[in-house]
Amino acid sequence: MENFNELQREILRLKKEKNALVLAHYYVPLEVQDVSDWVCDSFAMAQKAAKAENDLIVICGVRFMGESAKILSPEKTVLLPSMDAGCPMADMVTPEDVLRLRELHPDAAVMCYVNSSAAVKAVSDVCCTSSSALRIARGLDCREIIFVPDKHLGSFVARQVPEKKFWLHPGFCPTHHKITEADILAAKRAHPDAVFAVHPECGEDVVKYGDLVGSTAEILDFARNTDAGEILIGTESEIVERLRRELPEKKIYGVGSTFMCGNMKKVTLRALYECLRDEKYRVEVPEAELKAARKSLDLMVNS
Ligand code: SF4
Repeated sequence: MENFNELQREILRLKKEKNALVLAHYYVPLEVQDVSDWVCDSFAMAQKAAKAENDLIVICGVRFMGESAKILSPEKTVLLPSMDAGCPMADMVTPEDVLRLRELHPDAAVMCYVNSSAAVKAVSDVCCTSSSALRIARGLDCREIIFVPDKHLGSFVARQVPEKKFWLHPGFCPTHHKITEADILAAKRAHPDAVFAVHPECGEDVVKYGDLVGSTAEILDFARNTDAGEILIGTESEIVERLRRELPEKKIYGVGSTFMCGNMKKVTLRALYECLRDEKYRVEVPEAELKAARKSLDLMVNS
């Protein structure tokens, strides 16, 4: 406790006073993660929100994560510290895009990456995270799948599930998409003994070098459990910082200095403090949208 700064101590006090559950994504600043009840990837965050007993849930992450928590716990008050922390990839697909794809491919099921708006989830059949996408795609009772919005995760899944036909929406995560094959080759030249763990939101020309291709939680587990002493991390920069702190005996390298999600960094300690103090910003999802989106999210959480 004595290692926390004044703002962190105030956050812990408010959290206790208001009986709030604070869930943080791994990409928000470490100092925010340190005062959270749980630090999770999108899948664990959705599960924890669904099981929460607290009346107040604070989601330290971007807007779609707050919406998912509200959809799964509609009777609870769900707050976001930064209302303008959005996800550019989620904004790349609209419900109209999904309905158009459905018209073009009427026999296909719509699988929707959880990094999407509530309105898009409402017109999809099932949601997935990067850790559950393969399992869900294999388990769907259909031969064709429309995958939205991430073309990179969609094409990664399609390569592992060749027995099904995939129709991919052309969205992407700008943070993961901008890492190139040249960046990876340069990093591998600089650290020839390092194993490489990469997120499937990166392009195929990057993912093909992965010793592990997996979700944030899978990358963390890989780094903890591998016998390798040097690990190159192909995902957001906060994961590199977290692993350096957690595994001082290993050498952890990032791929380039620009591997950062600016929206996640909007969730500052100050924003979290004001969020708890003023109980802002409340996440609301229209009733009809919430009910429809809940079906596809429930299938994901219970899969
Ligand atoms: S890292 Fe990419 S997918 Fe995740 S919130 Fe940022 S922009 Fe969206």
